Amino acid sequence: MSAPSPSHAAGTGGSDEGKVEPALQLTGVSKSYGSVAALMPTDLVVGHGELVTLLGPSGSGKSTILGIAAGIIAPDVGRVSFHGRDVTDRPTHERDVGMVFQRYTLFPNMTVAENVAFPLKVRAVPAKESQERVRHFLNLVGLIEQFDRYPSQLSGGQAQRVALARALVFGPALLLMDEPLGALDRRLRQVLQEEIRRIHEDTKVPTLYVTHDQEEAMNLSDRVVLIHEGRVAAAGSPREVYLSPPSLWAAEFIGDVNMVPLSDVVDRGNGQCVAVTKTGMRIPARISERVPATDAAYLIIRPEDCRVSDNPREGEPSHKGQVVDVAYLGPFQRVRVRLDSGWTIVAAVPGRAPAYSTGAVVYCSWNNGAPLVVN
Ligand code: ADP
Ligand code: MG
Repeated sequence: MSAPSPSHAAGTGGSDEGKVEPALQLTGVSKSYGSVAALMPTDLVVGHGELVTLLGPSGSGKSTILGIAAGIIAPDVGRVSFHGRDVTDRPTHERDVGMVFQRYTLFPNMTVAENVAFPLKVRAVPAKESQERVRHFLNLVGLIEQFDRYPSQLSGGQAQRVALARALVFGPALLLMDEPLGALDRRLRQVLQEEIRRIHEDTKVPTLYVTHDQEEAMNLSDRVVLIHEGRVAAAGSPREVYLSPPSLWAAEFIGDVNMVPLSDVVDRGNGQCVAVTKTGMRIPARISERVPATDAAYLIIRPEDCRVSDNPREGEPSHKGQVVDVAYLGPFQRVRVRLDSGWTIVAAVPGRAPAYSTGAVVYCSWNNGAPLVVN
């Protein structure tokens, strides 16, 4: 069951159903603090039922975007609209957003149930409906039995579950989450990521989620928007962003990557080319139309796309080299190989594969579609 929006929800101008306008649309929003440009003019959309993450390093502008969406930060220029309605000049309490932050923001003097009921009380939702909705959302986050506890009696993970129930209970137009799992340990973060995904599937409340953790972003998102120095550096499904990053920076932020600078790109056409490295290797690669032929470009290959073997493989180009070192990580081992061409690459080979010793002569090859030219 997905709970209906209470009729009292502040600021929703009529029915939201069936409209084609996105749940959230930021158009050319920017923000500076004195001479510091926190956010360059940025466009961003969260579609109906979509979970979009803003992923980027600390200080890249993620919370600024979230704050502009929430109405906590006024953009210098640009417009904000919810479901096609311009809310740029509306304060937070008229925007109908649910929010969850990293710092636990529960009211310490209220029980779990009272915390979750609070947004309904503010909206003067009748007691019976309020009780039903509180029960529904406490069930959803798995905390119905803890309804009469106080925040001081909850673990960090439980507190964030209550915060999530409180953010969803009134049927918000948009859910905004700013590093909600940032204070939790890795294992608990993974558990809560699964919960958030399940709850999102259940409620389908459009969500904008901030994180600096690439694995968390990949795990949760319908779409990842990578933020770098106040700009959108990449956007797409986790798969698109990982397999076809538009820049070296994006490729490196979203995972491990082997990189070599190029001196030329030749035989270009149909999204393919031959990349010529500065040491004269000629490697068939994918290339996006966005990459200008003239600019400094790089060839990248993800470590898991690289293979290592004792002998050259038949039917595919192999590159002779010597093992520099090996790190054993369990699921895979990181084998660093210095190719005779001068390029040192890392191959992530299965943990069960034979151990390679330093100095061994090996042959590296890679999946055909793997090499990508970026700039
Ligand atoms: P993120 O959430 O990605 O860590 P923020 O959006 O919080 O980044 O900040 C982006 C940039 O804006 C940073 O350089 C930060 O120092 C700056 N900034 C944010 N808020 C303020 C403020 N109130 N005054 C001055 N600078 C700020
Ligand atoms: Mg932040």
